[in-house]
Amino acid sequence: MLKKYALPITLLCVFTCVGLCVAYYRGQTKYFFMFAGMGSCASTGEWLTIHFPKYKQVFRRTIHIIVSSFLFIGLSLYGNVNFEFSEIFFDLYAGVVTGALIQFIFARLILPFIMGNAFCSRACWNGAMFEYTDQFNPKVKKPKVRKEWIAFGYIGLLILISSVASYIYNPAVFEGSKRYWIIGENVVIMAIGIIVSRYWGTRAYCRTFCPFISISGIFAKYSIFKITPTDYKSCNSCGLCNKACPMLIDVRKAVRANERIKSKSCILCETCVTVCPKDCINLSPGLPWT
Ligand code: SF4
Ligand code: SF4
Ligand code: SF4
Repeated sequence: MLKKYALPITLLCVFTCVGLCVAYYRGQTKYFFMFAGMGSCASTGEWLTIHFPKYKQVFRRTIHIIVSSFLFIGLSLYGNVNFEFSEIFFDLYAGVVTGALIQFIFARLILPFIMGNAFCSRACWNGAMFEYTDQFNPKVKKPKVRKEWIAFGYIGLLILISSVASYIYNPAVFEGSKRYWIIGENVVIMAIGIIVSRYWGTRAYCRTFCPFISISGIFAKYSIFKITPTDYKSCNSCGLCNKACPMLIDVRKAVRANERIKSKSCILCETCVTVCPKDCINLSPGLPWT
């Protein structure tokens, strides 16, 4: 019984605890309600998925749209909070702590030990946009696979750009210019992501460049919740899971070997679970090192 509801209970507890810590640190109760609200939303989605598994993707996408719209439209565009990678360095150079650092610590350094890169399939606004636009792209015959040197080279490039930009005109100091930076940076990321996905395959920006998943992926392989074979002997090697995976992960190989998905790219979107005709995989808790 407890295992069945482990995910919604865990999500609610983690978000509530983080909300309490942030509210205490910032001295503002609004942060508690913000995190508890997102936790309740995510938890309700997972609870509904348990009871109506046929609509798993409908619930996940709905949660993704609600949470990502809240973060991007509500907090970023309206509230002037920049969550992008560059802002972490703007904050560090300006000696301030804003939503960028809080989001980075929670979503990229803490959450991965519990629910891997789930932020990418349930909260990221760029990810939501890529998932939507990917449906209209032609099938790419040879999608580009992730290369570590490109991903970490891109991180280096972003640090360089942020450092030069903050030396000239740090948006973390000049609040008035922040909104323009937020809009500009997100437009550039979305444009790059939409264009490269047409030629390199689904979620190409996420797989190839995104600095966030490069970092959270390091810890995601120790996540408690992972895609887990529940009945590996039923797998008929149909390969539908591999074809459907937006991150090009070899799910079939892991299932055949009765191993959980430890790939640092897995975003826990559960698409592989949805398409499996034999119901031999699930998103389940387990020992972090397994
Ligand atoms: S990989 Fe990056 S851009 Fe893609 S969904 Fe995750 S955080 Fe967003
Ligand atoms: S392995 Fe499954 S859950 Fe992970 S990214 Fe691929 S389809 Fe999504
Ligand atoms: S979709 Fe299911 S049955 Fe088919 S290869 Fe993947 S795990 Fe095996």
